[in-house]
Amino acid sequence: MVLSFVFKLTNFGIFKGFQFCVTMGKMTKLSISPKILKKHENAFQVEWKDGHASWYPYRYLRQMCPCAECAIIRHEGKDVHSLFSPQGDGDISLIDVSEDIQPIDIQLVGRYAVQFSWDDGHNTGIYPFEVLRETCPCPECMPLQPDELEDTN
Ligand SMILES: [Zn+2]
Ligand SMILES: [Zn+2]
Repeated sequence: MVLSFVFKLTNFGIFKGFQFCVTMGKMTKLSISPKILKKHENAFQVEWKDGHASWYPYRYLRQMCPCAECAIIRHEGKDVHSLFSPQGDGDISLIDVSEDIQPIDIQLVGRYAVQFSWDDGHNTGIYPFEVLRETCPCPECMPLQPDELEDTN
């Protein structure tokens, strides 16, 4: 009796875990776990364990820098609460970055983030994989972003 009770509980646990994974949709553990991280000439490539591929042009990545200093610049003139809104990235064009910005160093921070040191001297930006995935500029993730990027170039 006791054994079968334990067995049923375990089964239920697995089932619940599976359901949770399915209903989470966009932000599953696989979708924020990188499989491949690669530095290219003009962009940083991340291939995720769920099969999605993300390309981040360096200029975009620098403008999206998640450090407090850059977040404040992107939200200039706005209420501080906009930092925590769903569109919390702010206005990336407020970050003044040269067209040919390059990372001089890319370091893994534990298992959860990458830190970029840029050739403009800025190196305080730690990019958690969750943030990278959220800001993937591909047409599938951000239908409007590529046009905006082209306009600023
Ligand atoms: Zn920054
Ligand atoms: Zn994407």
